[in-house]
Amino acid sequence: MKIAIIAHDKKKDEMARFVIAYKHIFALHQIFATGTTGLRIQKETGLKVTRFQSGPLGGDQQIGALIAQNEMDLVIFFRDPLTAQPHEPDVSALIRLCDVYDVPLATNMGTAEVLVRGLVNGDLDWRTIIKDRKE
Ligand code: PGA
Repeated sequence: MKIAIIAHDKKKDEMARFVIAYKHIFALHQIFATGTTGLRIQKETGLKVTRFQSGPLGGDQQIGALIAQNEMDLVIFFRDPLTAQPHEPDVSALIRLCDVYDVPLATNMGTAEVLVRGLVNGDLDWRTIIKDRKE
């Protein structure tokens, strides 16, 4: 599965801890991330991460483009709900595209836990079935 990981600045520590905790699961999948989040994950976990631009410089939109091509299976996006973001329109657009394409999206750790554990249980296997049908 292709997994996108994004964290706003005040959520990066939380995201790093989360990915470390589930490293054994993430290691079985392809990881994509916005620039700064991806660098941090690479450094702290040693996982291979395909990195895009930093979020405010277009990284969210690059991930959105993959969602629009049905090339992303899960998005974990730890948003900071208490700080205004200069790229708020990009954040909204990314979330909107997840809804357009029915891509599972976690915007906080509570949901992320459920989805990542679901990966192990095969709860997201329908993504592969849908993709096979479209090809
Ligand atoms: P970053 O981008 O990983 O480059 O910090 C995240 C964001 O703010 O969307």
